[in-house]
Amino acid sequence: MKKKQFKAESKKLLDMMINSIYTNREIFLRELISNASDALDKIYYNSLTNDALNIKKEELEIRIEIDKKARTLTICDNGIGMTEEELENNLGTIARSGSELFKENNETSKDMQIIGQFGVGFYSAFMVAKNVVVTSKSIDSDKSYKWESTGTDGFSIMESDKKDNGTKIVLYLKDNTEEENYDEFLENYTIERLIKKYSDYITYPIMMKEEKCEKDKEDKEIKTYEDKTLNSRIPIWKKEKQKVKEEEYQDFYADKFYDYEKPLRTFRSVVEGKCSFTSLLFIPSHAPYDYYTKEYEKGLQLYSKGVLIMEKCSDLLPDYYSFVKGLVDSEDISLNISRETLQENHQIELIAKGIENKIKKELETMLKEEREQYEKFFKDFGTQLKYGIYNSYGMKKEDLQDLLLYTSSKEKKMITLKEYIANCMEKQDTIYYACGETIDKIDNLPQVETVKEKGYEILYLTDYMDEFVLKVMQEYDKKKFLNVSDENTNLDSEEEKEALKKSNEENKKLFDKMQEFVKENVSGIQFTHRLKNHPVCLTSKGNISVEMEKVMNAMPTNEKVKAEVILEINENHKIIKKLQDLFSKNDLEELEKYTKILYAQARLIEGLSLENPTEISNLICEVLAK
Ligand code: ADP
Repeated sequence: MKKKQFKAESKKLLDMMINSIYTNREIFLRELISNASDALDKIYYNSLTNDALNIKKEELEIRIEIDKKARTLTICDNGIGMTEEELENNLGTIARSGSELFKENNETSKDMQIIGQFGVGFYSAFMVAKNVVVTSKSIDSDKSYKWESTGTDGFSIMESDKKDNGTKIVLYLKDNTEEENYDEFLENYTIERLIKKYSDYITYPIMMKEEKCEKDKEDKEIKTYEDKTLNSRIPIWKKEKQKVKEEEYQDFYADKFYDYEKPLRTFRSVVEGKCSFTSLLFIPSHAPYDYYTKEYEKGLQLYSKGVLIMEKCSDLLPDYYSFVKGLVDSEDISLNISRETLQENHQIELIAKGIENKIKKELETMLKEEREQYEKFFKDFGTQLKYGIYNSYGMKKEDLQDLLLYTSSKEKKMITLKEYIANCMEKQDTIYYACGETIDKIDNLPQVETVKEKGYEILYLTDYMDEFVLKVMQEYDKKKFLNVSDENTNLDSEEEKEALKKSNEENKKLFDKMQEFVKENVSGIQFTHRLKNHPVCLTSKGNISVEMEKVMNAMPTNEKVKAEVILEINENHKIIKKLQDLFSKNDLEELEKYTKILYAQARLIEGLSLENPTEISNLICEVLAK
């Protein structure tokens, strides 16, 4: 019998793995099953060129046995097996790339997490076992060997009497402690659950004996044992498309992603190329309750040849598509992806690009062909798409802008920007929008009225971030976005403009005086043609609109912003006569009251609160009492 020490790096890794607090120790089973599956693959391919092996594919299997008394869990395969040398080399050294990871990185908990997520193969057995015995017979040797180790202090190898090809791994489970219960791995249902979770799509059957209780004629219980296959073997995403029923996808979706409402869209695709992969993706029919909180984690399941290697790979999804659920299976991603860091993995990057395109196409198709469905989707996830544009400072504009919907002033229907352009007036070089809390409130804005009357369509923005997004986008199809409340929205003809300029000049003294009364809040007072019946409105100058002021000041930061506003007065309203009278009589006390009330009115219409409600209320009463 040989007694050997592990190679230096292996020892270090082992120590770290066994002694760190493992939240994810259950992955050991996935690792051992995957190794067994590889060994079966190998013997099968060998048999294709070597008849002497006499292998029947249907006989290849993985078997799990539980012995509660001895507290052992055994994983057997009739695969290629290992020679004495292989036992020593393969199980005694951690793959080179593994040691490289440890040379490059320090022993930080971050690194541990990476390993924890992906597993480190065979060694993960020591997370649950105090002693591991591997008995193996290789197809290349007549002898069989037994490898045994308790973990850190090396291993021993001796001959064994195993006759059949393959490998048997016996795990002597660790003793239970107050915090840790290892007995769970002796329960059939735990094993079954883990196989379903991680190894359901291993192509070879994973068998386990199931105890059955039956009663004989004398009503005595007799125990029988039946073989049970634990895995379903063919991944749903590998089955022929025509053969998978819609309900199967739905069940799969409900089961894997814990959503009991049907997905809105299910789409599957195969990509061949530098990095080939299959994807099965779902768009949920509603936002999860935690979707817009920081608790929500985006990501897709990542499979390598049908084996789950990561539950939520966040690098596969951009933030603006974080609502997508599903999985990616790639032959080109090795189980050992852990051994490089994920971010540096070029394959993942390629897949992520492919996935992004698929999602975009799917959304475009939905928008084109299933408008109602798309609108439902947009209600729940539209904000996320808008974030995508905003957070990328417009870099993602091209990708996302055609997926946006806004309520339009004509029919109050949701339209795309493209549809807006298709309907717009000849020579229109501006896309008009108006902001407010609800469609009705916007529709009643005095500024909206005249723009609508001139025949222009207006986008009604009710999402608090809408205007910020349009500011980032600046224009669509070479047409600038413009708030109907912006001072630059001017639909007057040249003559009208000229006439307005003239009357503004004539009333300059009046306006200057009035402005003195509200100078903290208003940077100018002038006539406007944009109002039909209403006496006043506010327009904004510069980058911050009144609506943006509202949103920004509602945020929990100390810094408050102020939009630069102009109080505009309807030239044709009878109130103007009153103002002119007061001014010519030099009744400044009364003029001040009128000015303040008019400004307050304009604020209220915009949905802004009053800075001084008591003062305004008193002023109104005084004026009424006259
Ligand atoms: P890997 O990620 O390479 O599978 P492991 O530590 O899990 O790393 O296993 C190391 C090597 O040991 C494998 O590459 C394989 O050659 C061998 N091995 C492990 N389990 C088995 C098995 N059940 N049958 C045959 N060979 C095995």
